[in-house]
Amino acid sequence: MVRQSTRPPGDGRLSRALGDPEFGRHFTDHMVLIDYCETGGWRDARVVPFGPLSLNPGSAVLHYGQGVFEGLKVYRHADGHLRAFRAHAHARRFASSAARLAMPELPESLFIESIRQLARADAGWVPHQRGASLYVRPFLIATEAFLGVRPSREATYGVIASPAGPYFADADNGIRLWLSRDYSRAGPGGTGEAKCGGNYAASLPALHQARANGCAQVLFTDASTRTWVEEAGNMNIFFVFADRTLVTPPLSGAILAGVTRDSVLCLARDMGYRAIERPISVEEWRAAAASGELREVFAVGTAAVITPVAGLVGEDLLIETPPPGSRSVASLMRAELSSLHHGDRHDRHEWMSDL
Ligand code: PMP
Repeated sequence: MVRQSTRPPGDGRLSRALGDPEFGRHFTDHMVLIDYCETGGWRDARVVPFGPLSLNPGSAVLHYGQGVFEGLKVYRHADGHLRAFRAHAHARRFASSAARLAMPELPESLFIESIRQLARADAGWVPHQRGASLYVRPFLIATEAFLGVRPSREATYGVIASPAGPYFADADNGIRLWLSRDYSRAGPGGTGEAKCGGNYAASLPALHQARANGCAQVLFTDASTRTWVEEAGNMNIFFVFADRTLVTPPLSGAILAGVTRDSVLCLARDMGYRAIERPISVEEWRAAAASGELREVFAVGTAAVITPVAGLVGEDLLIETPPPGSRSVASLMRAELSSLHHGDRHDRHEWMSDL
């Protein structure tokens, strides 16, 4: 049984959080914790004041990186209800990430209930502004104090939250991606399709290079041949061709199965586009941009939702994509998703969960 408390944020903390251009630095007043042990299962679900965790320094997560996480958003609707976008899809991905890291799979119902309890306890932190939301971060860490390498028998599940405004300040002009030739994000048989911390830690030197070269994010290609486009930093990527076809790379095992990616594929088909998953190479990107067949490139993910990609930059490469117009697919998609997020449009796929 989750204990519930409600306290609206005072002293302008919410508006300071939304005004901060850096996402994810301000946290709400509470967090959810649930303990797991192999013999007793999931127990002691509780809402507690946000604060430091007490962790044995021998905990497996600190040494072997046995830990996974999720990221989803809660919106405030005009009817006063709080609703989460595609919470069940996030719950399923959380369980499959956990399985990949040999961790216990949290039941979908507990995942949803934990989001509900945190959203209710911190209801005052869910912004009213359009485009703004409460970003919710569930995580699972291996807590058994044991220095041998084997799956931990104990874990702690937690949920924290941070109010979110628009992600990239320059999102409308599009971002540039840096083509990483030195680093790979994931390889065959690796953890690319799991949302685990190690993937992100290992991607940071590539992000550093991107920033040093004036790019906001990294374009990762396949680790074996560096030919095929995989992901745009922490986002999936879409290409729009002149014949109203949208292309995104297939889920090869090295790519995170983005919930926004799946939503865009689905909405594009609803809107009469041909939306397909197929391999696309950097060379095809270059040639299609040069011939004019490529109309748009955009990146998608929970945090930024839809971000136009203005170009690809590499050691000896510069591909510019046309600036997105007001009738671009990227802006249509963003408007469509935003209407769903804020409850202005009939939710025909039943993507919004009542909290
Ligand atoms: N790829 C990676 C590596 C990511 O971290 C994310 C963010 N979760 C995405 C893609 C986009 O996934 P989603 O749309 O589910 O946020």
